[in-house]
Amino acid sequence: MNVLGSTKVLGVFGHPISHSLSPIIHNAAIEALHIDYIYVPFHVLPEGLGDAVQGIRALQIVGVNVTIPHKERVIEYLDEVDETARTIGSVNTVVNIKGRLKGFSTDGHGFLRSVEAEWGKIDGCRALILGAGGSAKAVAFALAGVGCEIVIANRTYSRAQELAELLESMGSKVGAIPLEREALAGAVSSADLLVNTTSVGMHPDTDAVPIPADLIRPGLLVYDLIYNPPRTKLIQEAVAKGAKAINGLKMLVYQGALSFEMWTGIKPPVDVMERAAVCALG
Ligand code: NAP
Repeated sequence: MNVLGSTKVLGVFGHPISHSLSPIIHNAAIEALHIDYIYVPFHVLPEGLGDAVQGIRALQIVGVNVTIPHKERVIEYLDEVDETARTIGSVNTVVNIKGRLKGFSTDGHGFLRSVEAEWGKIDGCRALILGAGGSAKAVAFALAGVGCEIVIANRTYSRAQELAELLESMGSKVGAIPLEREALAGAVSSADLLVNTTSVGMHPDTDAVPIPADLIRPGLLVYDLIYNPPRTKLIQEAVAKGAKAINGLKMLVYQGALSFEMWTGIKPPVDVMERAAVCALG
């Protein structure tokens, strides 16, 4: 990769940032397309977020991704926020439009595209979402957008209720349950799709499973947003029970691909991006 005076800069703001796969997938796409861009990881501490966003303007950075812990707070520093991102209260992509910074969320799109790439259309499905945090919101709104009926199960029940009320106020069919065996048993038995958006099972606590494994039944579609490790305990249990299961790597790739297209106007090669991520994870 040749970095010149003409090279346009993209990047990601996060804390921590050293383990982010985003530089790997975006630079792989840049190399494959032979375009004059570079994607740089920026370690931005919470107290430096405002200055970092101002730096996008000053340094004429074309756009950035925003990751943990800045996805919510970055909104206050932007000039404009797209409607979906404002509704879910989270921005993961900033586009510099001639000095005006606009925020978007590509997580929901990334989730939906990755599901469709793997299993085809899921419009009108019955979905059980485990978790009610930032990624659960993006997933829930994406599923509601294609007419799915949704149940949200969360350890902190009040957060599940809050998210369900928000979705309901926008016309979706949605329920909330606690993340407990009895409630889960009924919800899993009537679901087509189970999505884990909790961090349970993520490295280093890789033996943990977010629901009792014996509730999983053959034919269920199981989507674990976690990609490190690539085969979580939930995915292993699901496959053993005859369910179909995938991890969150494709979501990462598709949300990144949409950000890339917003910045450059070019559709990036998602296969190249995915291969780069798989290689990086070993
Ligand atoms: P978040 O906003 O902090 O939400 C975390 C969720 O996990 C909450 O619902 C929390 O429940 C639940 N949780 C945490 N520890 C738990 C435990 N021990 N038992 C039960 N529930 C627990 O985090 P997030 O941004 O949504 O991210 C969640 C996961 O998604 C992470 O693993 C992240 O890596 C992954 N992710 C993947 C992608 C992708 O592109 N594949 C994108 C975004 C996120 P409470 O409300 O009770 O605390």
